[in-house]
Amino acid sequence: MTTPLFREDAYLSTVEAKVTGLRTDGGILLDRTIFYATSGGQPGDTGHLERTDGSIIKIGETITGETKDDIVHLPAEGQAAPEIGEELVLHIDWKRRYRLMRMHTACHILSVVLPHPITGASVGEEESRVDFDLSDASADKAEVTEKMMAIVSANHPVFTRWITDEELDANPGLIKSANVRPPRGTGRIRLVSIGEDGAVDTQPCGGTHVSETQEVGEIHIGKIEKKGRENRRFRIRFGEMPG
Ligand SMILES: [Zn+2]
Repeated sequence: MTTPLFREDAYLSTVEAKVTGLRTDGGILLDRTIFYATSGGQPGDTGHLERTDGSIIKIGETITGETKDDIVHLPAEGQAAPEIGEELVLHIDWKRRYRLMRMHTACHILSVVLPHPITGASVGEEESRVDFDLSDASADKAEVTEKMMAIVSANHPVFTRWITDEELDANPGLIKSANVRPPRGTGRIRLVSIGEDGAVDTQPCGGTHVSETQEVGEIHIGKIEKKGRENRRFRIRFGEMPG
């Protein structure tokens, strides 16, 4: 079991940790980590582990193991293996992670502008996509962009809190995803809210987000695609909408 420090503080870019296990595939297990493991449409972190002698072990990918609570740090090819019990200093590729945090938050903002069931989502460094169960073809790139940027500019707080399974059952409207159910069984669900008291949006999510919407920066809808009769795919990109 690895303590996922990124869940309480997404802004940690370096921390000390101890090696608790090594997998046959070279995967490194730690007592705690700031490396987000691929899940919920957000790619896992890359970065490096610094050893006491100053040498580094490059991490090419972070994934979940047998359970969602197992976080596996997969070294890039040709890296030395650490010892069990060894103390390391963890460094994530912060530039990349911060772009993913901004993009991930932008996906939540898009789901506020388009209050339709989400059928898929993928967060990327350059571009993210969200698929909606939406047959209406009238959505306009410029209009959706304008509404998203109004939420970004309002600089709403973004924060997390935990609720029980029972509280979630009592509020089924919190679930926006049409086919991904929040993980059950641990007795608690992590909610991500935007706005004072979550007035703008609240939904279950385990990913990493910025703490104020203004940090998302300039974004726009680059493309709207038809994916089957009932689905529309919206692509979010950084920067101003090309004139
Ligand atoms: Zn999220």
